[in-house]
Amino acid sequence: MLTKKSVEDINVTGKKVLVRCDFNVPMEDGRITDDNRIVGALPTIKYLLAHNARVILCSHMGRPKGEFNPKYSLAPVAKRLSELLGKEVTLAADVVGPDAQAKAAALKDGEVLLLENVRFHKEEEKNDPAFAKQLASLAEIYVNDAFGTAHRAHASTAGVADYLPAVCGYLIQKEISIMGGALNNPTRPFVAILGGAKVADKLKVIENLLTKVDTLIIGGGMAYTFLAAQGKGIGTSLYDAEKLDYCKDMLKKADEKGVKLLLPVDTVVAASFPDPIDAHIETEVVCSDSIPADKMGLDIGPKTRELFAEAVKAAKTVIWNGPMGVFENDELAKGTIAVAQALADSDATTIVGGGDSAAAVEKLGFADKITHISTGGGASLEFLEGLELPGIACLNDK
Ligand code: AMP
Repeated sequence: MLTKKSVEDINVTGKKVLVRCDFNVPMEDGRITDDNRIVGALPTIKYLLAHNARVILCSHMGRPKGEFNPKYSLAPVAKRLSELLGKEVTLAADVVGPDAQAKAAALKDGEVLLLENVRFHKEEEKNDPAFAKQLASLAEIYVNDAFGTAHRAHASTAGVADYLPAVCGYLIQKEISIMGGALNNPTRPFVAILGGAKVADKLKVIENLLTKVDTLIIGGGMAYTFLAAQGKGIGTSLYDAEKLDYCKDMLKKADEKGVKLLLPVDTVVAASFPDPIDAHIETEVVCSDSIPADKMGLDIGPKTRELFAEAVKAAKTVIWNGPMGVFENDELAKGTIAVAQALADSDATTIVGGGDSAAAVEKLGFADKITHISTGGGASLEFLEGLELPGIACLNDK
């Protein structure tokens, strides 16, 4: 399926291997609050160590805006990674400077070095060739295992591949084989569920999925422009007038292609958006074709929860991206929870795109009941759009 070379297709023994990871972990007061992304990088790192490579890791963290800032240092990552690997992880004081160069040159087989945050250099996000070349000069092989940034053409995610043999790690391999497999060769019925705030963010995803799925389910704030396109009154719900024709077009396309397009049949409404977002809010359930003019739709209703869960039950492949309502508020989280539950209960291949839906699944404790939770929010969306991701396109073909 994957046409790109992986770590297994290249001799790494005794070689200096630069591995781009996604160690952009959530932090609070200098402490890592969720180490999933570090754990996700372990299979590749362990493979390289088991084959006596000299491992040079790099990653970004936050948005330090191109200059050194201790707040965004990877020091806590070095510490946690060292605990997880049960071996020392040396942290360089810089990215491509004298300390990184000296430490990379001194690495012995089976040792691990972590470079500082690549975004301490503004050249990183500009994909500056000179910077990419400097980074490449530290190593003999480049491995990209950062799926979360694979949709960015930065120096460490793509540019560096111009100067070194370039292959993917296990995390990227897994993301591509599971999501690519679902998109291009799904066991049917294939159901996609899209939610989130705006239609405008998912235009190409909807269009691409309509050529692949048997059923497309649309919930969340984006559903209301579709309901409006069907001529329904949507009160003060989220609405994108500029995308009304697009939604009409997609409804027509679904019809022509024989794709079942499911929209909310009932909706949870309130007088206004909760403020603050988790404030207690008075709600009522109304049919989607009788939303009062002064009310705002903020979650899918109970009949819709059942309808969507039934569709998931009948599916053999399910992809889900985006919450069904304002799930940050307990009163408006029921739709999102119901979809997460339906996926958890399903025997189908279930794939959850990154971001909010992944967080919801993990918070509910359903993570181990899902086939694959993508580690990339933006990257998984671009993948669903059918785009070639620069961080993958740059790798050597098999
Ligand atoms: P996105 O960033 O596009 O993935 O959308 C996620 C956001 O959509 C969440 O913060 C939700 O609160 C919001 N959202 C979901 N449903 C609605 C809705 N019906 N009205 C307003 N916002 C919504």
